[in-house]
Amino acid sequence: MHGRRSNRLAAAFVLPALAAACMTTGPTGPAAGSREPPPPGTPVALSGGALCAGVVAGRQIAVQASFDRARASRCSIGADGVIEVLILPETRPINDSPWYAFKVTAEAAGPVTVVLRYQGGTHRYAPKTSRDGQTWTAVDPALVSVASDESQARMTLSLEAGVTTIAAQPFETAAQSLARWDPFVADGRLTRQTFGASVRGVPLVALATPGEGAAHTLVLVGRQHPAETTGAEAFDAFVMRLLEHDPLAVAFRGRVALLLVPVLNPDGLSAGHWRTNANGIDLNRDWGIWAQPETRAVGQLIEATHQTRPLIGLIDFHSTRRDVIYAMPAADPLYPQGLAEDWFARWQAVAGPAAPPIQRRFDDDQMNSKTWSRIRFGLSGVTYEVGDDTAPATARANARIAAESYMQAVMSLSAQQLSPTGSPAGS
Ligand SMILES: [Zn+2]
Repeated sequence: MHGRRSNRLAAAFVLPALAAACMTTGPTGPAAGSREPPPPGTPVALSGGALCAGVVAGRQIAVQASFDRARASRCSIGADGVIEVLILPETRPINDSPWYAFKVTAEAAGPVTVVLRYQGGTHRYAPKTSRDGQTWTAVDPALVSVASDESQARMTLSLEAGVTTIAAQPFETAAQSLARWDPFVADGRLTRQTFGASVRGVPLVALATPGEGAAHTLVLVGRQHPAETTGAEAFDAFVMRLLEHDPLAVAFRGRVALLLVPVLNPDGLSAGHWRTNANGIDLNRDWGIWAQPETRAVGQLIEATHQTRPLIGLIDFHSTRRDVIYAMPAADPLYPQGLAEDWFARWQAVAGPAAPPIQRRFDDDQMNSKTWSRIRFGLSGVTYEVGDDTAPATARANARIAAESYMQAVMSLSAQQLSPTGSPAGS
């Protein structure tokens, strides 16, 4: 019976990792059909990226984490059929943002119990599942129990036959994030350039508006921290609004050129890192230090851009436990026009209670993008944080309001304030 089931499994699934799993667990098809799979709980050495495989409630189950953005370090299937997945960070100590993403392939539909076990962090992201990598569903919180010390989360899922991805957040690859801007490059609203390479040699891509007539540059940075998905949603929606064809956006782009860096940490993203680049360094502590190729390259790009069109702002998109905007203290002698403060006031006037709180702090103990922009250019740099559990649609709606408010704040400045000599950047 088990042999027949395994034959069906080999025939029905094309996932290479599962095929590899079957090869090492025994039967792979008609030629090997006489061999029985190992009993539940048998440790299995697997190749092809499969972390573990075994029989759960009479059906073959395999777990793999060998795809772009995957993270699961080890797994085992116990005699009780419980799948335990170990989630490790890329380095320690580390910010507690335990990213996980793995695929479970089931021979037939039925329930499975999965335990996420964390080392170096605690449960933070409520699990989501996807069948196609496009549409994601949050696991019913009633089906997830988190240990009191948050070192484990246990969930019982009703899996369909085939592949189900389980992840900390809906995700896309760096290539997918960048491809979003292809239509804008095609219609001339953006130009695309490579400005450097990551630790692993992945091209770093920036996009810019033509900037005809524009005297200043707004820099927008995304995806320094791989796990911070909701911030990436906000980045996309914010930029999309700035690129629309309505009179406000068109006039804004005639005043301010955009320099976009949608994915500053492609290696960390691809490797399923919690926080860092391929060197295990938090890029958002390296601005002005420039010890990492990604930050060094973006610093050089911004400096070069500043020579042509001085910076008017830098907004860096992230995620944290709640929606919050980190900015500089309001009294900024280098920036008497107070553009950021005007922006926040307009934003709050429109969004009301939905507007995120503004926290103003000059945290020069952390060389993040915001701090560097203040030290280097006298700007009130902004870290735009979106809550982990903020729904994507909400993050996007809020970002659109934020972008409109920003454009209105810029358009309220006088021509003198925006002239190169009256540069608010004070350079
Ligand atoms: Zn972050």
